[in-house]
Amino acid sequence: MNPPRHACIHCGRDHTEVPLISLRYQDKDLWICPQHLPILIHKPAQLAHKLPGLELLGPAEHAHD
Ligand SMILES: [Zn+2]
Repeated sequence: MNPPRHACIHCGRDHTEVPLISLRYQDKDLWICPQHLPILIHKPAQLAHKLPGLELLGPAEHAHD
């Protein structure tokens, strides 16, 4: 049995190639590299094929005080 492979959800590079940031989403542990973190922030719909439901989030908005 191999341990779960930790790899960026977008590009698939693993922790031996790039730093990975851990995410928690729908009871799953996910990983994304810094290069693709902006996609999650600004264009989450692009990751909807990997993370169902993200297409509903829309782009990040600035908080209103
Ligand atoms: Zn990546």
